[in-house]
Amino acid sequence: RSNGGYVGRFAPSPTGPLHAGSLVAALASYLDARAHHGTWLVRIEDIDEGRSVPGAAGEILDLLHRLGMESDREVVWQSRRKHLYEAAYDRLAGHVYPCGCNRREIADSRLGFAPDGAAIYPGTCRHGLAPGRSPRSLRLRVPEAGADVITFQDRVAGVVTQRLASESGDFVLKRADGYWAYQLAVVVDDAEQGVTDVVRGADLLDSTPRQIFLQRLLNVPTPRYLHVPVVRNANGEKLSKQTGALAVRPGDEEAAVAALRQSAGFLGLEVGEPRSLEAFWRVAVPAWAALHVS
Ligand code: GLU
Repeated sequence: RSNGGYVGRFAPSPTGPLHAGSLVAALASYLDARAHHGTWLVRIEDIDEGRSVPGAAGEILDLLHRLGMESDREVVWQSRRKHLYEAAYDRLAGHVYPCGCNRREIADSRLGFAPDGAAIYPGTCRHGLAPGRSPRSLRLRVPEAGADVITFQDRVAGVVTQRLASESGDFVLKRADGYWAYQLAVVVDDAEQGVTDVVRGADLLDSTPRQIFLQRLLNVPTPRYLHVPVVRNANGEKLSKQTGALAVRPGDEEAAVAALRQSAGFLGLEVGEPRSLEAFWRVAVPAWAALHVS
């Protein structure tokens, strides 16, 4: 099967070491790229410099290397690509307005919360800042109800539909702290890197319609999407950096295989009991292909 120009990516935020949850996303994206004989990229999403932990990106890259996952091209870092976000923003300027609202004011309007936890914006500053207000963030205008429906086909979730006006509201492109928002950076990078297939955790399923909306405004292609289930701990909480960092010391192939097997099992892959990394990858790629590549 030819790759049809497949380009996939793993895009960790370096807020801590890889844990079992982020390994599942890494593994799924890697297996999908390999199953398509495609290219797999690693991108360090350190655009939110306030949340980035020094050294975490290096640890993530080291661990991926120990597990046998290597970016096919040079790793890119969002913190070094701000000129790209700036240029994209310039192209969106006609759809953007300055917003003077703070978090509490938005929450007080009680429109509820987008699935990712962001309060739905009531449009207070849409037609100009209220007198005496100074701009904090820059927001992207979404279309009025009726013209705001985004639908896409996820390879796991099936057809997903979101109404941007009521389920997101106008969303932030540049934050009050001066950093570019994830939604803008991820769309610009996926397009600039020629990503054809996004494979990532289902916690980002609800962000996808906003990203597709941005792709359309910027006139760049929409990739295919596959969202894998999010790993939760026994209390039903999403695994985060506080829980279960993966300990795989250099040269400890047994631990590397064990971590991969656990993630593969979570993804529903039958991999048996491989004793080496090489044996793991030999069975995991076709096991993924059997489930997800027709
Ligand atoms: N950087 C995001 C995260 O670690 C993932 C972004 C993406 O895959 O689109 O949650």
